[in-house]
Amino acid sequence: MRYENYIDGQWCEGADYLTNLNPSDLEDVIGDYAQADVAQTQAAIVAARAAFPAWGDVTPQQRFDVLDGAGSLILARREELGRLLAREEGKALPEAIAEVGRAGQIFKFFAGEALRLSGEILGSVRPGLNVEVTREPLGVVGLITPWNFPIAIPAWKIAPALAYGNTVVFKPAELAPGCAWALIDILVEAGVPKGVVNLVMGRGAVVGQALSESPLIDAISFTGSVQTGQRIAAACLPLRKKLQLEMGGKNPMVVLDDADLDVAVEACINGAFYSTGQRCTASSRLIVTAGIHDRFLAAMLERMERLRIGNALAADVDIGPVVDAAQLRKNQEYLEVARAEGGQVHGGEVLELDTRGFFMRPALVIGTEPHMRVNREEVFGPIASVLKAKDYAEALALANDTEFGLSAGICTRSLSYASHFKRHVQAGMVMINAATAGVDYHVPFGGRKHSSYGPREQGSHAREFYTLVKTTYLNAGLP
Ligand code: ADP
Repeated sequence: MRYENYIDGQWCEGADYLTNLNPSDLEDVIGDYAQADVAQTQAAIVAARAAFPAWGDVTPQQRFDVLDGAGSLILARREELGRLLAREEGKALPEAIAEVGRAGQIFKFFAGEALRLSGEILGSVRPGLNVEVTREPLGVVGLITPWNFPIAIPAWKIAPALAYGNTVVFKPAELAPGCAWALIDILVEAGVPKGVVNLVMGRGAVVGQALSESPLIDAISFTGSVQTGQRIAAACLPLRKKLQLEMGGKNPMVVLDDADLDVAVEACINGAFYSTGQRCTASSRLIVTAGIHDRFLAAMLERMERLRIGNALAADVDIGPVVDAAQLRKNQEYLEVARAEGGQVHGGEVLELDTRGFFMRPALVIGTEPHMRVNREEVFGPIASVLKAKDYAEALALANDTEFGLSAGICTRSLSYASHFKRHVQAGMVMINAATAGVDYHVPFGGRKHSSYGPREQGSHAREFYTLVKTTYLNAGLP
């Protein structure tokens, strides 16, 4: 089946089509998805521009109705869309269904936010004046998303964009367009007016680049790799576009001597390997103090033996396939590099299963040193390295020894260490006795250093990006 782009209230043939395959089973074709060219992208931008004045002026009730309706439709189709997500992206079915649920809740949350948007009234320092601080829609936003959360990330960009009165041109990732298409279909069913949301599936270098370079787009929100984020920033800054970039991570999980071993192992297994390690919040560096190091390793390796790797749709699977052949190759190359640099690799084998797919066993690289590439570069696979620290102070220093700063965790029973770590770790999100990945939908998401740029996503903080602030001085003319 062919899936088209959605521009100015119409489903439109693509200039070309790309086949979407199931990474658990390459015989399983999900569909052919339209690929926009630059002309079609421009048409979508013009449509969003034309729709902006009216959508920016509708009542919050009208925005609430569309978003709340979309949220209900997503939640009603949670199982079916979860299967689609697991099929096209490869995360295990329960995680895929949970992600769809989260997307539905995000739409519900931002439906409410449309009604809750408030300003401030202050006295002036000058007599006779009052000051009002209000928020207005930003304009046309270009949304560029990755494949690893193919419904949650589009939801957490589209929902606030619409809630605060903006119009959208949305470019999903090439590898997972199915959920993006279904989401737009749902928004159409929920009554989004023509031109307010436009879907342009296609290549990053074509569609994404055209969005970044268009003077008719006011802002870009992007999630993906550091290199692409930098390219987008370079295109947007000369045009003074507002920017929100969520990029990589090299997230540390510190395990201290006094940690509850079972809690630490579960947090590390989940954080490092669930969703096949393909989360920007994944725990990729496990920093373990000397007193618990050997016990921790033994327990991790034993727990890893029990992980069930297989078809994302199968009932008894914990970890699905890697997303595609290129990522599988990259993961294996990183294991080679880790070995060559002196690390000992446990697991990581490529697996041949009943169906042809991109399966690999999760890998733990032990005996690593901070300078090794596996400790410096984001792999984006089910690979975690272990760094041994002599004490808490060294563990904290290692945790901060990275150019990234998205999420960071610590496992400890000590309130003092937990509190100190919370304050001094250089990350946007801190997890205490919990996995570095797995976040709530109603609170800010984002990082520091090279991980993120611009205001936070999600929760009521999302308004910082999706609105413009206006300060009005009002002289009521009274004596
Ligand atoms: P990933 O490694 O997760 O695929 P990318 O940064 O390559 O990360 O992709 C994230 C998103 O950015 C995708 O939708 C992709 O198509 C898009 N993209 C890739 N190159 C560009 C570009 N030059 N300009 C804008 N978007 C791009």
